[in-house]
Amino acid sequence: MENKTAWDKYGEKELKKVHKFAEEYRCFLSECKTERECVRRFKELAEKQGYEDLADVIREKKTLKAGDKVYAINRGKGMILFHIGEESLEKGMNILGAHIDSPRIDLKQNPLYEDTGLALLDTHYYGGIKKYQWVTTPLALHGVVALKNGEVVDIVIGEKDTDPVVGISDLLIHLASEQMEKKGNKIVEGEALDILVGSIPVKSDDKDKHDKEKDVCKEKVKANILRILKEKYGISEEDFISAEIEAVPAGSARNYGIDESMIIGYGHDDRVCAYPSFDALIETKKLKKTGVCILVDKEEIGSVGATGMHSKFFENMVAEVMDRMGEYSELKLRRALYNSKMLSSDVTAAYDPNYPSASEKKNTAYFGRGMVLMKYTGSRGKSGSNDASAEFIGELRKIMDENKVNYQTSELGKVDQGGGGTIAYILANYGMDVMDCGVAVQNMHAPYEVISKADLYETKCGYKVFLENA
Ligand code: MN
Ligand code: MN
Repeated sequence: MENKTAWDKYGEKELKKVHKFAEEYRCFLSECKTERECVRRFKELAEKQGYEDLADVIREKKTLKAGDKVYAINRGKGMILFHIGEESLEKGMNILGAHIDSPRIDLKQNPLYEDTGLALLDTHYYGGIKKYQWVTTPLALHGVVALKNGEVVDIVIGEKDTDPVVGISDLLIHLASEQMEKKGNKIVEGEALDILVGSIPVKSDDKDKHDKEKDVCKEKVKANILRILKEKYGISEEDFISAEIEAVPAGSARNYGIDESMIIGYGHDDRVCAYPSFDALIETKKLKKTGVCILVDKEEIGSVGATGMHSKFFENMVAEVMDRMGEYSELKLRRALYNSKMLSSDVTAAYDPNYPSASEKKNTAYFGRGMVLMKYTGSRGKSGSNDASAEFIGELRKIMDENKVNYQTSELGKVDQGGGGTIAYILANYGMDVMDCGVAVQNMHAPYEVISKADLYETKCGYKVFLENA
């Protein structure tokens, strides 16, 4: 089977569109590095396009009808957007679902300590990472600190050019003979991922100003860091208990390759699917079926918790929308979910000539060949996968071909090589048709991942024609 590169088909005008959309995405990726930052940005963009907060609609007892657009936010970390179609919801929705959390290094609840005149933050990594990749690279701290008075303080350190960055050390090669003998997962261990944040001891006059720090005058460098945090953010050491602070690679995503055909940056998985999913829905004008975009948290740790896909938030919000349309009943809700179709917008591995043995060449995704359709993910005999039905894939092929979207099919590596999962199987629990579908990524889960701009563009086009035609 021949799979052509999308680059060949672009005329001058379309090529401009490809690069323009990629540039919008590159800026988004540079500025939105946590699930909270993504939700905030998507909310702003949605409101500009006439989307209304579903919470307001419910409170004001407004009714919803075809053509209306609403969004619901789940604790600042997840979001669902609805563009209501002409058909009744009971007949099903067309859903795009992506996740907006990415692998990273989280601070522990009691993180700050001093050792030999250095102040460090203790961490616990989030998601599947090769720990040795996260050392000796500039990191930024992003997150929130919830104070006892209910105030929530936003923190971003390390993104402005004038900001300092922080980071994790690695052992010099000169002394690493023992380390280099270790297995990959032991080269750098979880407890060695502590972040260096300071080395200047607090001055004695400063110390007097801060009574508490007098007691810990042995830890003068730590005291100085606490002094800075108090001054800049009004937070004290105890406040870390109710904080969510994520260490992520500092700085902007960049154009990649001498021909600028790719983008390197932190968090393509899965913002490279979240962004075009959102954009595809926002661009739709008139829909027959209700179009939905789910942007969810916690996929990288198993879709758990109140903001993960396993929570009932999506189902509850569909019920709320149906209620506002005067169409709610338990049975109608079940039918709406069962009759829906979904593209689980998530990434897959791009073929890497440096590691040819990991993939089977006929069934792998290649940069530039467009949106990737994945019938199944999982590992060890498709375990944990959704395994989309042939009929649904047939329908998708028709839609993509009729609308000239470049697509390819793939599975994640060779059989028995490893594997991975997405949110697909969770939505499939309702009985709806679900297919994994997204963008191929090199270096997945590394601090800097790489994607092709043509794949991003084709995927956005594919998502849009799915919403309009499925
Ligand atoms: Mn993913
Ligand atoms: Mn992932």
